[in-house]
Amino acid sequence: MDYRRQYIRDLWDATPGTSAEVYGWVKTRRDSKGIHFVQVNDGSCFRDLQVVIEEGVLPEETIKQITTGACVRFCGEIVESPAPKQPIELKAKEAEIFGPADPETYPIQKKGASFEFLREVAHLRVRTNTFGAVFRVRNRLSWATHKFFQERGFLYVHTPIISASDCEGAGQLFTVTTLDIENPPRTPEGKVDFGEDFFARQAYLTVSGQLNVECFAQAFTNVYTFGPTFRAENSNTPRHLAEFWMIEPEQAFCDIEGNMNLAEEYLKYLIQDVLENCSEDLEFFRQRIEPTVIETLENVAESSFERLPYTEAIRILEKSGESFEFPVYWGADLQSEHERYLTEKVFRKPVILTDYPKEIKAFYMRQNDDGKTVRAMDVLAPRIGEIIGGSQREERYDVLLDRMKELGLDPEPYWWYLDLRRFGAAPHSGFGLGLERMILYVTGMKNIRDVIPFPRTPGNADF
Ligand code: ATP
Ligand code: MN
Repeated sequence: MDYRRQYIRDLWDATPGTSAEVYGWVKTRRDSKGIHFVQVNDGSCFRDLQVVIEEGVLPEETIKQITTGACVRFCGEIVESPAPKQPIELKAKEAEIFGPADPETYPIQKKGASFEFLREVAHLRVRTNTFGAVFRVRNRLSWATHKFFQERGFLYVHTPIISASDCEGAGQLFTVTTLDIENPPRTPEGKVDFGEDFFARQAYLTVSGQLNVECFAQAFTNVYTFGPTFRAENSNTPRHLAEFWMIEPEQAFCDIEGNMNLAEEYLKYLIQDVLENCSEDLEFFRQRIEPTVIETLENVAESSFERLPYTEAIRILEKSGESFEFPVYWGADLQSEHERYLTEKVFRKPVILTDYPKEIKAFYMRQNDDGKTVRAMDVLAPRIGEIIGGSQREERYDVLLDRMKELGLDPEPYWWYLDLRRFGAAPHSGFGLGLERMILYVTGMKNIRDVIPFPRTPGNADF
């Protein structure tokens, strides 16, 4: 018999009586008298293919090796399945074991292993139902991101990973160096002499592509960058990674209003796309991870986000009567408990806060005429808190320079960024969406370590 290799995804509407050949990994094997049932998955979709092996069809030696985790090939005939979950199954005629997986030592034996445990076997966790679903959703969100921006004529820019400027003036940077750390060259004052280093200055892993992408917005109008970013913040929370992926659009001739519109349109587009294209995976998340996940997404896709100034939000929080762990007062940076109160208790949908006190925001945000606030906009989501941070940028040279001096930022490494304000400066705005925060939101997963292939967090860069 001639077999044609197929992906499990494409088999569901195969005609009974036809033949098929599949490759994949065994999820489980169940034996009943005279018959074996094997669940095989190749990652092409959520569902496993059920393979039925009747007594005597395959050598006993082969059957023994068909255990959880084994890598196999099956050939056989597509037949209608009596099981309600699946339209078809494969009646095996041949099998090949590429790689057995010893049941005594294969770490992922049964369902229900904790996510903490699975992080310790991150090289194998991708074969489980949950991580299969997570990474298909992650893939889809990435693809939908490019689709969204490309359909709107945005230029995709590859901003550098290694950077000399600290985007926020906020520390939290990883230094990139080839100096001998045992015995680095020193300046006469005894400091490490980064002038002798590879880049002839101290260089870092980027915390954001924004400053670089702004240059491109001043030539291509609408641009975005989508890449890894790095923060050495020692915050062991379920929402922070040391390495994460960020999508950062930037638009010239765009004020904070247009920026909010883009952010809202983009988030809804992502949600709609995932609802349409990952329905099986989402159904799994609804059943096993977070019961409200699909209804929340459907609601968000249709409702409009609440927009209000920071000052207003502070007033609501002060009047709430809630006892927060962190105090609320005008000038305070909002903590996730505050963000969640606003999104979950007050508005029950995403909220865009604007016009934050300048003291708690980055130097490049455009100052309002009140002298106290800047044109920042953070999008807060229920369950997650901050999912997007953005702003209209300060395009006035003098104002920007004064602000940098006020903050004690050395303008020297930013000379080119300041130059953008000297030559043909357009008003412009942009924002950053943390991809992993978005995946948390869409899947209902609780820990950011479980939505990135190999998480980097304080004390952990294994795998
Ligand atoms: P937070 O207050 O939650 O630490 P932030 O204000 O430092 O966030 P921004 O610098 O505005 O965040 O970064 C833009 C977006 O990047 C955030 O809205 C969030 O989605 C994401 N993000 C920021 N820091 C992290 C991190 N350490 N791990 C994962 N995502 C992050
Ligand atoms: Mn942060």
